[in-house]
Amino acid sequence: MKNTLLTTCLLVLMWACDSVDTANETKNRPSEVPYAIAIHGGAGTILKANMTAEMEAAYTQILDSVLTTGEKMLEADADAVQVVIEVIKIMENSPLFNAGKGAVFNTKGENELDASIMIGETQEAGAIGGVRNIKNPIEGAYAVMTKSEHVLLTGKGAEQFAVEVGVDTIDPSYFYTQRRYESLQRAKAEESGTSMYINPDYKYGTVGCVVLDQSGNLAAGTSTGGMTNKKYNRIGDSPIIGAGTYADNNTVAISCTGHGEYFIRYAVAHDIAARMEYGNASLKEACSDLVNGKLVEKGGSGGLIAVDKDGNIEMPFNTEGMYRASSNGVNRFIGIYGNKDAE
Ligand code: ASP
Repeated sequence: MKNTLLTTCLLVLMWACDSVDTANETKNRPSEVPYAIAIHGGAGTILKANMTAEMEAAYTQILDSVLTTGEKMLEADADAVQVVIEVIKIMENSPLFNAGKGAVFNTKGENELDASIMIGETQEAGAIGGVRNIKNPIEGAYAVMTKSEHVLLTGKGAEQFAVEVGVDTIDPSYFYTQRRYESLQRAKAEESGTSMYINPDYKYGTVGCVVLDQSGNLAAGTSTGGMTNKKYNRIGDSPIIGAGTYADNNTVAISCTGHGEYFIRYAVAHDIAARMEYGNASLKEACSDLVNGKLVEKGGSGGLIAVDKDGNIEMPFNTEGMYRASSNGVNRFIGIYGNKDAE
């Protein structure tokens, strides 16, 4: 009897110790979060002083509803890549962002769209650049990944491919918005020389989404109209894998926004993954070294969103603001301005 009592006491003690350990681990290990998602709607000169209460409410509302869509899908165990597509499509369909409807104009007064997507598990990727009639460019990018043997298709070829594989196309006039057209007129009026004029008041507006799903798979996607007044069929970083978008299940999923030429030159998205993989940097260190270190030093403005394989989330930017939101099923965040400005 004595022995049975002793054994029971020991077992209870062991169970209690085990429970305490597990509970502490759960608290301290971000990998225990069910999923992680971050979205951005572009970085740039976004100051509270320049924003009307209505505009701010509209951006906050759409960021909230887009995030909620992603959260619900992830709670229902959706794949990371499906969440990325769905979330980006909603943002492409909103005239508030520089992607799909609401895209900026090039110097000829046309909308030319770029997008890309990447899956962390297989490192498959697809991208389109300089297309004028694909309603949801992220679907075009996904089709390149899943229905062709290529990674990046551009211009007329990409448009032809979209028709052949049944991706929705639309008359280019669909992408017109008065607000973006006026931005082009202002940019042209202030333009000097032949270099791409960067309006000091520039608000980027590209959209992106990065996800860690419940199965531990990462995915990233980015979609944009590029930069106002761009010339010569210019293509930015958004459809360049390793520059504007990257995903690898061993490390991280990233989507960038900002002055694309710099993100291409410094292979920003891949550099962050490489610092983590080869240099054992934490997500926070790698992101900060790039966005607040190298890019600032070189003169490249912008920001990015990143989710690592353990569910950590970083959303750094070196501009005044970045439309952004994130959730890990436990905590959620929606922000527009930087630290200098009250959120
Ligand atoms: N990175 C995009 C580009 O250079 C622009 C943006 O993020 O707004 O095309």
